[in-house]
Amino acid sequence: MEAGTSPDDLSQAITAERWLRRLAELSRRQGLAIGTMLGAARRDLELLLASAALHLPVDEGLSERAASERLREFLATAGAMLETDHAELRRWLVDLGFVERSDRGSDYRRAVLPAWLRAAAEQLEARQLAEAVGQARAALASERQARKQAWLARTAEALEVTEQGAVDAAASSQATADPDAMFMAMALDQAYNGWAMGEVPVGAVVVRDGQVLATGFNQPIASHDPTAHAEIQAMRAAAALLGNYRLAGCTLYVTLEPCAMCAGAMVHARVRRLVFGAVDPRAGAAGSVFNVVQNPALNHRIETSGGVLADQCGTLLRDFFAARR
Ligand SMILES: [Zn+2]
Repeated sequence: MEAGTSPDDLSQAITAERWLRRLAELSRRQGLAIGTMLGAARRDLELLLASAALHLPVDEGLSERAASERLREFLATAGAMLETDHAELRRWLVDLGFVERSDRGSDYRRAVLPAWLRAAAEQLEARQLAEAVGQARAALASERQARKQAWLARTAEALEVTEQGAVDAAASSQATADPDAMFMAMALDQAYNGWAMGEVPVGAVVVRDGQVLATGFNQPIASHDPTAHAEIQAMRAAAALLGNYRLAGCTLYVTLEPCAMCAGAMVHARVRRLVFGAVDPRAGAAGSVFNVVQNPALNHRIETSGGVLADQCGTLLRDFFAARR
């Protein structure tokens, strides 16, 4: 047996402070399923089940109705990241030994918790768990607010600077010397435009010789156009500007790995280079699901770099979908 891997190992015992901190971290997530966590995140699952069990007393049994009431309260506060209801949660708690049901099956009480959680559990109350999660959620909300404010400020600044030329805007709006990160930051601003219109926030920028030719953001809903992805919007505008359906020598920056349609259009347009942010494991056509941009069967291959500002690009999408729920 490997040392230190058992959840019951006392050397792995958690402090009450660390418990609250981990709970706060987990509260940034949504839709955690107990069945999935059972195999993939056992310690986090035990921490969450123990947090639920803290809502039940040790020394007296509660009726099923009273126990359900406490578990509903947990799911509405500290346990809101869990995708379950009080009845399913109660079954898991009993099955996994966090809650005991009396022989007659009529009352529920907190069981002896796993050793690594036991000492900390004695110092914690249900109320503290709800407070820690409440604070974490408030902090997350103000982070999102700050990001939106920063975007509005940058947009205002960019509008002023655009009059002095796109290159100036690019140089002054970002202190970074990395051109890929700089242009990706502009694509991110475009993605926020999509968000402002209620569209999935993906943004794109077409650049040639260090100059921004065109920008675009995802807007199929507003334009009643299934092809109105950010990349298509940006390529259309760039081609119109150049008076040429080929975008030779151009680099396309996009916050999300392009889909098959956009990747196909890029090949048609002879885009020289593609730079994308977050990968799209569901529909990406630059290596994730398909590889259209570097397909040996096609007569043009696009030099591709992925993962530029991937965290920001992915976080923006996750925030968008979280805010919509
Ligand atoms: Zn697309």
